[in-house]
Amino acid sequence: MVKEVSPDSLKSYITSLVALGTRNTLSTQTNSERGIGAARVWVLNKFNDLAKKSGGRLTAFIDTTIYKADKNRVSRDIILGNVVATLQGTDPNDKRIFLISGHLDNMRSNPTDSTGDAPGANDDASGSAAVIECARIMSRHSFPATIIFITVSGEEQGLLGAAYMANKAKTLGWDIEADLNNDIMGSNNSSETKIIDNTRIRVFSEGLSVLDTGRIATNIRNLGLENDGKARQLARYVKEIGERYVENLEVVMVYRNDRFLRGGDHSPYVQRGFAAVRITEMNENYYHQHQNVRMEEGIQYGDLVEFMDFEYLRKNTAMNLSNLASLAKAPSMPQEVKVEVKKLTNYTYLSWKAPKTGKVKGYYVMMRETTSAFWQKKFFTADLEYRLPFSKDNYFFAVQSVNETGNESLAVVPGVGR
Ligand SMILES: [Zn+2]
Repeated sequence: MVKEVSPDSLKSYITSLVALGTRNTLSTQTNSERGIGAARVWVLNKFNDLAKKSGGRLTAFIDTTIYKADKNRVSRDIILGNVVATLQGTDPNDKRIFLISGHLDNMRSNPTDSTGDAPGANDDASGSAAVIECARIMSRHSFPATIIFITVSGEEQGLLGAAYMANKAKTLGWDIEADLNNDIMGSNNSSETKIIDNTRIRVFSEGLSVLDTGRIATNIRNLGLENDGKARQLARYVKEIGERYVENLEVVMVYRNDRFLRGGDHSPYVQRGFAAVRITEMNENYYHQHQNVRMEEGIQYGDLVEFMDFEYLRKNTAMNLSNLASLAKAPSMPQEVKVEVKKLTNYTYLSWKAPKTGKVKGYYVMMRETTSAFWQKKFFTADLEYRLPFSKDNYFFAVQSVNETGNESLAVVPGVGR
């Protein structure tokens, strides 16, 4: 699947989206050749074409809601629409959902300018293209868990489409185990400092969740687990799997929910307790982001197709695909993972129960020093317990389920077993 990711496909999606003039959330929804309405229909048609070859497992629709005018970036009531394609999992008992998202809307220098041209090739036709390309390739394969491919609107207006979707997921009790949100991921250079690099991609993740308060926060502090929240755990997984499957790509973890004082569509999920991360290119070029297309003092401004690196976007898309496929193929996470604390010992005893769904070959017990960002060792066992000659005082541990084809679940940090 990774080999099927095509820079030409990605380029064609982005070129088609840019050709719609603007995709501002406040732009026209009645013109078939311009504006956010046309963009939504274009993506829906793409998904529907793929659905025909999916054996009935992929279904797509535009999920709309009325969004009322606010005091910020929405001056009048609008129809907000996310384009959602769902690849139904093959195991009816497996309720897990894995999400990949990008935002279809874009902006000029002024976010409420809904009529002028806004190409938005990188922000965020790149993320939207990655979503479509993953859907194209993955819809021909089957996975026990469900995968949702989504391109949202209203990101530049205040993360509106993502908030709508995250709210829906929370209200309906969806078991979203991961959201990979892709925003600005296909340009290889920085403005001002002029760095060129197409071998690294950033994954942003929060440490402590806003929901970690009171006793939960006390427990996290006592056990030193402030670096092992859901999103951080997902980021470690994304790095390991991405680098395993994609050549010449380093996944750089950034210990921060998003770029400094900036926002993204993963946040509405994070705020509702789902594991979500932001995936963004290593260096950003601000001449090409949120800028009207113009020439000024010899500098070309604007988010144009000519500034994209489609080979870089191919790798970054493949990185997403390898993660989504691994997660959706893997058994679910081991349950009731515990570290025994009945007596003082220099061994560490871990125990757990089999996952709810999926065929398990065994488990990986993972270990790292307390100052290490990544898991440093992985021990395989087919049992439901493991004894390590390493003290729990000096290391962190976690357990993953793994199946016959080597696909691991997300890691579970042990609770205290008395
Ligand atoms: Zn963006």
